[in-house]
Formats: sequence, structure tokens, C-alpha cells
Amino acid sequence: MNVLIVGSTALDSIKTPKAENPRLLGGSASHAGVAASFFSPVKLVGVVGNDFPKRYLNLYKRHRIDLNGLQVLPGKTFHWSGEYEANMNNRRTLLTELGVFETFSPKLPSEYQSSPYVLLANIAPSLQHHVLNQMQRPKFVAADTMDLWLNIALPDLLKLMKRLDLFVLNDSEAHQLTKADNVFGALRQIHKLGPQYVIIKKGSHGSILSGPRGFFICPAYPLHKVVDPTGAGDSFVGGMMGYLATSKGAIDDNIRRAMVYGSVAASFCCEGFGLTRITRIKRSNIEIRVKELEKLTRF
Ligand code: AMP
Repeated sequence: MNVLIVGSTALDSIKTPKAENPRLLGGSASHAGVAASFFSPVKLVGVVGNDFPKRYLNLYKRHRIDLNGLQVLPGKTFHWSGEYEANMNNRRTLLTELGVFETFSPKLPSEYQSSPYVLLANIAPSLQHHVLNQMQRPKFVAADTMDLWLNIALPDLLKLMKRLDLFVLNDSEAHQLTKADNVFGALRQIHKLGPQYVIIKKGSHGSILSGPRGFFICPAYPLHKVVDPTGAGDSFVGGMMGYLATSKGAIDDNIRRAMVYGSVAASFCCEGFGLTRITRIKRSNIEIRVKELEKLTRF
């Protein structure tokens, strides 16, 4: 089964204490799409400008990502720039140039509308609604967000949450949304806003799922060196949705393992700038780390 992914398709300029890399392929949909592609076919919905390098289109194609839903418009591709502090966790946004995103209105090709799995990766909630409105009864809908939308588009986001099976956010966003001081309190409050499944991401400390079968604590893969964590959250949710889409049986029987696969995809994302590391691995590399995580967490 395939996964439809809508989100940002961007050029990212990233600065860390050790290096600086301009105009890498980035965006929530790019990171999520590549991670999901290790497990299932991906249909991408997004927009780029006519400055978008052809080699990046080829990179999507190498991952067999369906680009029929990617619009190429006259103008500039969305450009985001961020700088990390020495701990590689704190990040400052230096620049956000919307470019062709300013007028983007996603129009789904007819063959996209029956995708059973939908990932509304980080993008304005109004666009996430717009995509969902065009879908024909998907089996499982997940969405990710960011602090910006909690600040400037909260009513749209709250409306969206009522339409979701799974909502994914990080711990600081969960605190911002609920004012709860601990994640378990936050999870309970977020369920009341709609979704049956909620995942709170805690960066290098893993993530926590709350769903019909209770909690699951998913570890992060222990990395000795983080080169660039940009897109780790998107890779996590993309890998997870890709794995869920290929799994037989009920969501509840597969979602925990799917999170572990997402966690491993995120670890490869962090080991290189932009998508450079994760686009050089094979499914077998992922399987090795999943087995290691299994050993690390069994008791
Ligand atoms: P993450 O590290 O998971 O927060 O995701 C980083 C990605 O989000 C980068 O590749 C950016 O291009 C993308 N991004 C940054 N700001 C926005 C925004 N306002 N809307 C959509 N995507 C964004």
C-alpha cells in the first residue's frame, strides 16, 4: 500500500558549529518521503520553483517517489535557513523565504486520492485540511506540526486534529499546546482534542506513544556523533508511516514496531547534512539497527 505525503519541499541552508551547507534538498515532505520510501511507494504532494535543481528531482526519482503531485511553478523554491548551537539540539531559524509556497494550493492527481495512508507532514494546517478534503476515505491519517502553527494558526490546527488518527509533535510543542508540565498529562489532554493515537517526540531521548493499547516508550538509536538533526522528526514519522503501510494486520499490532523503524530512519538522517547520509543507505542497514535497538531494550 502506498503513502501520500504532503509537506514542504525546500532548499535548506544549514549551519552547525563545524560546517555550513547552503541550499541542500530539505523540507518536511522530502525527509519524510525518503524515509518512507524504504518501506512503501510514496506519492509526494508539494511545490517547487523553477530554480529547483534537477539533481534533487532525480534524487526523489531514485527513491521511486511519485512526483505527479509535485507542482513546479515560476518563482523561487521555499528556502529555510537554520543554525545549531554546540549541543546540536537548540536551533535558531535564520531565514524563511516562502517563495512559491505563498500561492500554493495543492491539487491532488486523481490516482492520489485513494491512497490508504496519508501523512500531513509539517506545513500550514490550512494546506493540510485542503489535501485531506480531496482524499477518499483514507485508512489512516497522521499529521505533524511545528511551533509556528501553534502560534499563528491554532484554530486551523485544532480543527485538523479532530480529523486525525495520529498526531505527532515534540515535547516543547506539547507543552505549548496543553500547558501540561509532564508528557503523560499532555498526552491525555491531546487525546481530548481528537486523535486516538498521539506521539510526543523527545529528540535524542526517543518518543512516547499513547494509543488504545496504552503507552509505548520508543528509544532513539544511540548515536555518538550528530552531524545535522534537521528533518529527524520528519524522517521518524515518514519511516513509521512507510512501515505501517506495508504491514499486514491492525494498526495496533504494528505501530510500536513502526515507531522503532522510524526511529532508526531518523538516526541515519542525523548522521549527514540534509539527506546526504540517508540517501546512501539500504534497507539492510535499517534492519541491522532495528535488531540492535531490540537487544538494547529487551529485559
Ligand atoms: P525538523 O528538523 O523536523 O524540524 O524539520 C526541518 C525541516 O522543516 C527543514 O527541512 C525545513 O525546510 C522545514 N521547515 C522549516 N520551516 C518550515 C515551515 N514554516 N513550514 C514547512 N516546513 C518548514
